[in-house]
Amino acid sequence: MSQEFDVAIVGFGPVGATLANLLGLHGCRTVVLEQDTEIFPVPRAVHADDEALRTFQSLGLLESMRPALGTYTKREYLNAKGEIFFEASVRKTTAIGHREDIYFHQPTLEAVLRGGLTRFEHVDTRLGMEVEKIEQDNVGVTLTARQAETGKIETIRSKYVVGCDGARSLVRQQLNIRLRDLGFDQPWLVLDVRLNPDVTPKEANLPNCHQQYCDPRQPVTYVPTAVKGHYRWEFMQIDKPAPNSVPPKEQVRNLLSSVVDPSNVEIQRVAIYTFHALIAKQWRVERALLAGDAAHQMPPFAGQGMCSGLRDVHNLSWKLALVVKGASSDELLNSYAVERIPHVTRMTRGTIFLGNLIQTRSFLGAYLRDILFKTILRIPRLFTTLASFTLRSPNLKKGVLGGEISRAKGKQFIQPTVLLDTDEAVPLDSVLGDGFSVLTIAEHDDVLTKLADTLITTTLPITFVQVANGKVTSNLQSGSFKRILDVEGKLVAWFRKYRAQFVIIRPDRYVLGAYTATGLNQGMKELFSLLCLHSNTGVP
Ligand SMILES: Cc1cc2nc3c(=O)[nH]c(=O)nc-3n(C[C@H](O)[C@H](O)[C@H](O)COP(=O)(O)OP(=O)(O)OC[C@H]3O[C@@H](n4cnc5c(N)ncnc54)[C@H](O)[C@@H]3O)c2cc1C
Repeated sequence: MSQEFDVAIVGFGPVGATLANLLGLHGCRTVVLEQDTEIFPVPRAVHADDEALRTFQSLGLLESMRPALGTYTKREYLNAKGEIFFEASVRKTTAIGHREDIYFHQPTLEAVLRGGLTRFEHVDTRLGMEVEKIEQDNVGVTLTARQAETGKIETIRSKYVVGCDGARSLVRQQLNIRLRDLGFDQPWLVLDVRLNPDVTPKEANLPNCHQQYCDPRQPVTYVPTAVKGHYRWEFMQIDKPAPNSVPPKEQVRNLLSSVVDPSNVEIQRVAIYTFHALIAKQWRVERALLAGDAAHQMPPFAGQGMCSGLRDVHNLSWKLALVVKGASSDELLNSYAVERIPHVTRMTRGTIFLGNLIQTRSFLGAYLRDILFKTILRIPRLFTTLASFTLRSPNLKKGVLGGEISRAKGKQFIQPTVLLDTDEAVPLDSVLGDGFSVLTIAEHDDVLTKLADTLITTTLPITFVQVANGKVTSNLQSGSFKRILDVEGKLVAWFRKYRAQFVIIRPDRYVLGAYTATGLNQGMKELFSLLCLHSNTGVP
């Protein structure tokens, strides 16, 4: 394989591996450089949300991941007396077509992500290669990396580099990018255990739900992980330990016996992590970009660190693909930070709010919190709103967004089950493909023919989908057109809600814009201009 790549990825954690798969699907020549030779064998992240599952679905790897996923039904918040002061249920299916929250086993999930790359001849992975230096010029990036085993130095050329190299990112350091501190700095002790095989979870009093013990004397998080018989507790460290210190055995024993009978479990791992809330001030310097923990770190109270990294690379991958293939100017890449920084800032602030609720050490604060929850939960409407509470991903506000109907743009598009011409029921995304898609409920042949003419003249990857709700629809048939039946009525309801006839959906499944029948031409022009396309698009 040639040493000249479209994109070099530094770091093969979950974020780098997801980006490599996405770029593989877009046909980009990609190299991944990872300093370690094996997957890190113990999980850090344990929880993922519906949007992360949708990203894995886009990779075509979700079904292979199923054995590494586990479900739970609710989150409970308990006060100092051990009483539940608030509980929130987990929805089985959200509007985007996935379970609201799941648990996963990180090493298995990463193995599936890495396995997915065997599909692509144009994606190369180099394990045991530590990147030491990054230099940029007008046409590309030169990476200097050292082979761990032999000490041999290699240079690799690529058009762009993405630093997915974690919290201590070398790429970020080499670019002299500073971090913005949102003001959170708290060590927690993570304790992973395995239940003895002769004891049932019920006997050991280990429920299948997420619990937060919001006791000001000792805040604790409890997580039944995706692996049968494996459980995690996280204990806030009241007396801040020295960095990288090993917790004393006696402290670990005391903490464990405060939550479970120690004779029922075997300790698998003890580690202290200091949780921060940091966001890189810049996510791009010329041809180098940051993603995942290299770009942001947040406490894990809402399980959103890795999930945010997956959003980064789903957002970035299609933009990089358009740029490296020469379709778009590289100005398009500026929209990456414009879209992602405000989003991740909101998620981090939400996580800090949740963290402060959980880990308050003030008895008065905890007392007032409990009273407040008791009072507001008596109001049925507030109860319903709070009971479905979870830290939701906000809409995109600025970036590659447009459309006539402004309240539709920047949202994740819904994903109902639809029926194909062949009568097969499938999730919507499997019809949309890896590129852009235009969905319409229009039935008039003249409108559709005009759109077909436009699509034929562009080289952009666009799938056109006509949504029918059971009635006879257009006779128009063409290779770039697909027709689906809206069996659940959710798509037609969406179009009615926004009074739209067309919607343009981006490859990361966010709504670029929604349009009326007469606004279609404007929509296509807008799409081509937002994408900073080089070539003549053929739009009249
Ligand atoms: C206790 C804990 C619990 C968490 N729980 C959750 C959760 O439930 N849900 C969630 O979404 N997130 C959670 N997180 C956060 C999540 O673990 C991280 O956000 C995620 O692992 C970041 O992935 P990444 O790929 O960006 O970085 P990493 O996983 O850190 O991967 C970076 C990779 O880059 C490699 N690398 C570094 N430097 C170089 C170099 N110079 N050359 C070559 N390779 C290099 C490293 O070896 C590593 O493999 C948790 C974190 C912790 C600590």
